[in-house]
Amino acid sequence: MHTCKDAIELLRAYLEGELEVKDKTALEEHLGACAPCVEFVETYRRTPDLCKKALEAKMPADLSGSLKAFLRKHTVS
Ligand SMILES: [Zn+2]
Repeated sequence: MHTCKDAIELLRAYLEGELEVKDKTALEEHLGACAPCVEFVETYRRTPDLCKKALEAKMPADLSGSLKAFLRKHTVS
């Protein structure tokens, strides 16, 4: 079972369409048991860049550290 930190790394690849099949299976397993991560994916997909700081503020504390790094990588433009 992956932790949320592991899942965030996989989610990044997943959202960029670069996730390997074996990792996708592991991620889907995690998402099946972790509502906050599911909510993150759903919300992230429909969140404009300008709103991502607000999204970040709503995340559970145990995800926020990984998420900050994730969002920094993901929002370079
Ligand atoms: Zn999770």
